[in-house]
Amino acid sequence: MEDAEYFYHPLENIEDTELFYEAVERNHLTKSISPERPYTYWTIELYDQKNGIRGGGGLGVLAADTRRVAEKMGIPFTLITPFYPSEIKQIYENGEISEQHIPVDYSKYGFKYCDKVNIKCHKDLCSLDVIEKRFKNTRIICITEPNFGELYSGLSGSDHRLYQEVSLGFGGYAALKLLGLKPAIMQLNEVATFFAALARLDELASNGMDFYEAVVYTRKHTLYTNHTLVQAAEAEFSREQFDRFVFPNLRSPAVRKWLSDKFTHDRIKLSSVTIEIAELRSGVSKLHTRVANYHDIAGNRVKFKPVTNGIDMDTWVLPEIMNFYRENEILDTINAPTNDYAEKLDSFTAETIKSLKTLGREILNKTLENRPDQNGKILKFTDNDFIFDFKRRFVDYKRPELPFSDLNRLRNILEPRGAHYIIAGRVHPGDDTMYKKLQNILKLIKNDDYLCDHVHYLADYDEKLAYGLSVGSNVAINVPIVGYEACGTSWMKDIANLNLLISTHDGGVADGPMSAYFCVNGASEEDELNILYQQMEDAISTWDNDFDLEFVIRRQLSAFLPIISGARMMKDYLDFLFPK
Ligand SMILES: *Cc1c(COP(=O)(O)O)cnc(C)c1O
Repeated sequence: MEDAEYFYHPLENIEDTELFYEAVERNHLTKSISPERPYTYWTIELYDQKNGIRGGGGLGVLAADTRRVAEKMGIPFTLITPFYPSEIKQIYENGEISEQHIPVDYSKYGFKYCDKVNIKCHKDLCSLDVIEKRFKNTRIICITEPNFGELYSGLSGSDHRLYQEVSLGFGGYAALKLLGLKPAIMQLNEVATFFAALARLDELASNGMDFYEAVVYTRKHTLYTNHTLVQAAEAEFSREQFDRFVFPNLRSPAVRKWLSDKFTHDRIKLSSVTIEIAELRSGVSKLHTRVANYHDIAGNRVKFKPVTNGIDMDTWVLPEIMNFYRENEILDTINAPTNDYAEKLDSFTAETIKSLKTLGREILNKTLENRPDQNGKILKFTDNDFIFDFKRRFVDYKRPELPFSDLNRLRNILEPRGAHYIIAGRVHPGDDTMYKKLQNILKLIKNDDYLCDHVHYLADYDEKLAYGLSVGSNVAINVPIVGYEACGTSWMKDIANLNLLISTHDGGVADGPMSAYFCVNGASEEDELNILYQQMEDAISTWDNDFDLEFVIRRQLSAFLPIISGARMMKDYLDFLFPK
């Protein structure tokens, strides 16, 4: 049981964030967050290959970056996530994608076994391993067992998913107690982590706290971060599933009743209960928080606070570019832009930009050494080669096929410059529609004399490929249907690595002005396509004109560096959680 002092004292407000930062820097942490009372971050997905964990996409990358940024800023931070004992590798061979299931051994990545915790599944006790990896002021705690399965295995409303989510929530909460940690704040990275907050509510209410006080307390200390636009699209669970997996884990009759009342026609959406249990709610870009359409159980539209995602720049940006940012006082020691960063950007000349990109291209070539394209060819690019890339999960709203709508036009853009177009992105296992779209693109280009060996598909998109392309290509193409991208972070990696960005005005890109990048802004898809092609032509001529290149790179960085900075994101979260 948590001590009474902790129950009845609300989080101490930090009057002045500057003082908070001074305190953090001196390592005299405030009462609100401390090593025993860390900022806790709950996520079903973590994308952190250095630590042996491969995620699915942006949600997991964000989680890994948030921890790294907290590490750099000296914030006591604990991330709780499952360790999946197996992961999927995709291979493209003879025109087909196949999947390999690769076992992963956590002990090879510096995780240490701590102990076991139990949760109830139906009438059985399930035993889960708690493993941990510690860093300076942050740690990763994982819940795992040999049959835990893979990330997103099974359908989203399936028993197995519920089992994984309940294991993370109840098992993870028990693990914190086991390790002597009490959460100062619980950030729920999407609703699959709802059960962690439920476990806390149950613990408070079953240990003698008045039920309503327990609800108020849990709500005040829980932040729900939403990444999804429409509530309707979310999978539901049935009461029968909850009877087997959830209710047996609740000790407080009042909490059981509370949860029971949240069903409609014996079905429940995790978002609706997450909204009830979290008073603090955030979205991941300004546009996203405006368009996210969520309602609480009473039918009121939910307001989300915009905290636009950022990236851990030390992870994603070429070290030589990071040195340049620091030496020229564009970024400070925690990678936040300095007060006069915009003027300091004048230190970027076309010559510097090109010499830094040459270093990046070497990294890209290394990355590609063991990753053949669809023709089985190993790609190697010279400094003068021109590369467009489209690197992102193959999902419909991101429109990977858009640039292939008019093959003649595409060829006429690429051919005069001898330019290449690289597509990298995983199709979600079982997504037939997107698998067919990919096959179709590859069939189209195969029959074109130029495109057949200048458009390359690279299978098994992962962090290393994301990094290689960000540092080594010239132009990134990002064309989600406007209103569909919650934030996106790969475009941030591109801008920070001095690539030109061609994008629709969507997600976090729309936090900045349209004039700051090559904007694809049209009233119909036909318009958008036309503008996309014009912007591709423009991007090539910009790159080949020193004056234009300097101007455009400075303009992109000037508008977007504060948005990209992970330190800015963390500061926004702290300001929201501990208001002045
Ligand atoms: C950065 C990154 C993402 C995020 O992609 P978005 O499409 O911008 O959300 C996804 N997957 C990997 C491997 C990444 O490195």
